[in-house]
Amino acid sequence: MLNIVLFGPPGAGKGTQSEKIIAKYKLTHLSTGDLFRKHLGEGTELGLLARKYMDEGRLVPDEVVIGMVGDKIKNTTGTNGFIFDGFPRTVAQAQALDTLMAQNNMSISGMIALEVSEEVLKERIRERGKTSGRTDDQDESKIQTRINVYLEETLPVAAYYESQGKLEKINGIGTIDGIFEDISKVIDKY
Ligand code: ADP
Repeated sequence: MLNIVLFGPPGAGKGTQSEKIIAKYKLTHLSTGDLFRKHLGEGTELGLLARKYMDEGRLVPDEVVIGMVGDKIKNTTGTNGFIFDGFPRTVAQAQALDTLMAQNNMSISGMIALEVSEEVLKERIRERGKTSGRTDDQDESKIQTRINVYLEETLPVAAYYESQGKLEKINGIGTIDGIFEDISKVIDKY
């Protein structure tokens, strides 16, 4: 089984690269951002709860995210593995993921971190905001909040995997196919 954490700041290209990884390696995509937006669209209680955090660019509380991910893992059968996108976003979530993996007789193969400068990130998010319909992509202060939250709360997650010898960094600036080639080389080593 291949279980990959795709890591990077908002706007790093995780969603774009996830699609290509899933197609090539037949993995199950688990994007917590997508799951929250689905709940929001369906007007579930979880969606309503997540909304106020997402709208402000803040993190949804760990226990809510971890519960949702645990359900998704348990309810997925017959897969080659998972690609985690936008999760874990805190060290507590990373620890919980290790526990969830162990409970399901799996482990994390590695983390692939996409590196992109802050200026390029902001430019990409602004561009995406023109068509994504995401309110968190259309407001400068929300974009800045998300980047700050990433630097303060999420970046330590990379160190968590590095200490396990599981971190691979990839330059996230370049062509989509070029970046995917670099990612594939890492995955083929797992
Ligand atoms: P991006 O990577 O562009 O910031 P996502 O779609 O991954 O966008 O996430 C959108 C929002 O959903 C986040 O700003 C946050 O409010 C919430 N969210 C997504 N994943 C998590 C997570 N693992 N923990 C806490 N909040 C999350």
